[in-house]
Amino acid sequence: MSADVYQTECVVIGAGAVGLACAAALARAGRDVLVLEATAQIGSGTSSRNSEVIHAGLYYSTGSLKHQLCVEGRRKLYAYAAERNIAHKKCGKLIVATNTAEEAQIAALHKRAQENGVENCALLTAAEAKTLEPNIKCVSALFSAETGILDSHGYMLALLGEIEAHNGALALNAPFIRAAKTADGYEVEIGGEAPARIACRVLINAAGLDAQRVAGDIEGVEDIPPLVLAKGSYFGCAAKPAFSRLIYPAPVDGGLGVHLTLDLGGRMRFGPDVEWLDHNEPARVDYTVDLARAESFYDAIRRYWPALPDASLTPDYSGCRPKLSGRGETAADFRIETHGQPGLVCLYGIESPGLTSSLALAERVAKLAE
Ligand SMILES: Cc1cc2nc3c(=O)[nH]c(=O)nc-3n(C[C@H](O)[C@H](O)[C@H](O)COP(=O)(O)OP(=O)(O)OC[C@H]3O[C@@H](n4cnc5c(N)ncnc54)[C@H](O)[C@@H]3O)c2cc1C
Repeated sequence: MSADVYQTECVVIGAGAVGLACAAALARAGRDVLVLEATAQIGSGTSSRNSEVIHAGLYYSTGSLKHQLCVEGRRKLYAYAAERNIAHKKCGKLIVATNTAEEAQIAALHKRAQENGVENCALLTAAEAKTLEPNIKCVSALFSAETGILDSHGYMLALLGEIEAHNGALALNAPFIRAAKTADGYEVEIGGEAPARIACRVLINAAGLDAQRVAGDIEGVEDIPPLVLAKGSYFGCAAKPAFSRLIYPAPVDGGLGVHLTLDLGGRMRFGPDVEWLDHNEPARVDYTVDLARAESFYDAIRRYWPALPDASLTPDYSGCRPKLSGRGETAADFRIETHGQPGLVCLYGIESPGLTSSLALAERVAKLAE
C-alpha cells in the first residue's frame, strides 16, 4: 500500500451508466472527479446486461423517483444522444392486451401515462394495432411513441469522454475497499493492482448490485436497505424480424413481461423473464441462460405473436435486477440516500428504468453533493 494520500474533490464508486453520468454531471459543474471501477472496463455490470430501452415513464407510481427521473431522464437522454451522435432510435412500442383482464391493465397504464405527463401515448383497437404491426395478435394495445432504443455502450463512452474533457479521471481495476470519515470528508482506501488512499470531500456510491456492500464499508453508514436479486434471461430469435416496434405484454410481478426488443440492426430479442433468487449475493449470480427457460418464453411470446417458429429461440444473455422489494410486494422506488452524512450519496435499487433515468438521477446527485 502506498503511504501517500492523494487528494481529489469527488470520488464516484462504479463506472456503470449511473456512476459515469454522476461523474459527468460533477465534472460539468467544474468539480474534480475520480471514478473508481473494480473491473477492467466501464459498463461491465448491469449496464451491459439490459434491454437498452429508453423508457417513456408510464409504468411508475405518479410522483415516485422512478416516474420523475424516467420522464426527465428520457428527454435529456434523447437530446444527449442526438448531440453526441450516439446511436439510438425512437422506434415506439406497443403494450398489448391479449384478454379482458389485460385490457383493464393497459387502460390503467394509459391513465398512469397521462398522470405521469408522458407524451404521445394512445389506446389502439386491435385493427389499429395491426395496421402498425401486421404480425401482432391482441384485443387492444397501448402505443407509446416516445419509447426507443439506445447503444448503451456508446452512451457510456460519451459520458467518459465528457468526464475526461473536464479533467476528470477513471481508475480501472481499482476496487473501493473502505472509507473512513475525516474532518472534511472521507479517506478512501483503494485495493487492486495499485492500492492507494484518496482524500475526498464528496463520495458517491453508484456500485449497482454492490451498493449495499460498499455502503457497509463506509464509516458511520447505518440503515442500509436490504438487497433482493431477480435475474432476467434473454433469448435471441433466429426468425426474420417480424416487427419494427418494441412489443410488450401487460406487466407481471417483478418485471415488464417477456417483451420483444430490437437491437439497432433490427434483430429481435426476447426477455427478460423474472427469476427471484434465493440469495442476495451479487458475486454468486450465475449469468448462464438456462435453455430450459425457453419453454415458458415460447408460451409467453405466442400469446402476442402466434407465428413464432418452433426452435427459433437461442439462449442469449442475462442480467440481474438490484431490487429493494421481493416477490409479490409493491415495487420499491429508487433510493437516493445521504445517510445523514454531508458529502455522501448512496444509490440503491437502481433497476429499470435506471439507464433511461441516469442523466436526471445524476443531476439530483450532483445537487445533493453541493
Ligand atoms: C435485465 C435488466 C433489463 C434492464 N433493462 C433496462 C432498460 O431497457 N432500460 C432502462 O432504462 N434500464 C434497464 N435496466 C436497468 C439498468 O440496466 C440499470 O438501472 C443501470 O444499468 C444501472 O447502472 P449502474 O451504474 O447503477 O450499475 P452497474 O452498471 O451495475 O454499475 C456498477 C459498477 O460498479 C462497479 N463496482 C461494484 N463494486 C465496486 C467497488 N467495490 N469498487 C469499484 N467499483 C465497483 C461494478 O463493477 C460496476 O461496473 C435493466 C436492468 C436489468 C437487470
